[in-house]
Amino acid sequence: MLRVHSYESMGTFDGPGLRLVVFLQGCNFRCLYCANPDTIDACGGTPTKPEEILRMAIDQKPFFGKRGGITFSGGEPTFQAAALVPLVRQLQEAGIHVCIDTNGGVWNPAVEELFSLSDLVLLDVKQADPQRHNALTGRDNVQTLRTAAWLEEHGKPFWLRYVLVPGYSDAEEDIRALGQRLGGYKQIERVELLPYHTLGVHKYEAMGQEYKLAGTRENTPQELEHAAEILREYFPNVIVN
Ligand code: SF4
Repeated sequence: MLRVHSYESMGTFDGPGLRLVVFLQGCNFRCLYCANPDTIDACGGTPTKPEEILRMAIDQKPFFGKRGGITFSGGEPTFQAAALVPLVRQLQEAGIHVCIDTNGGVWNPAVEELFSLSDLVLLDVKQADPQRHNALTGRDNVQTLRTAAWLEEHGKPFWLRYVLVPGYSDAEEDIRALGQRLGGYKQIERVELLPYHTLGVHKYEAMGQEYKLAGTRENTPQELEHAAEILREYFPNVIVN
């Protein structure tokens, strides 16, 4: 069984083309800006047979076109890597492109197999500096950076995703640290710079939790473009999403 939080059909945001996005339950990080705090509890969500997800993906395959497919997001999908591995094999046997949207912070043999099998990894790096990463997510970034290095060494294509959080990851030195750390990687097909947003704030209220970034403003278009310009000094393909 997989514990599923929710689904999005025809998603255009999490990987190439039109995609079925499956948000899985459970996460090892505690990002201050998390827009899906209700996905963090590993015991939440709906227990779901993998065959049900396979059937949904096959039903939606005509809409995926040449580039689309399925994306497992969350939460942190590697939390359920052991259950995902056989499903990913079946999806690929059915000719469906598989993306994993991950913070890269979990590592075990099942996660390694999951990344080996997947067609594309969307690697969310929240901060390149370990201490500032800890301030933002409650965890260090050691494994995330190791995961990036593993993907590079094993020739696995990935997209790097970076959220520009005012006061936490938007300083020029933060952005340059990311470029200096990962800029030479050949397997990074694109860098997606994502704006900070407050769309999940109502969930904190509903869950009776404090939203710790209350009062943090959103990025201006100029700030996003300036950050993208800096990243373009290190990476050939940077887009603001
Ligand atoms: S890694 Fe994603 S799901 Fe987990 S706390 Fe951070 S933003 Fe939320």
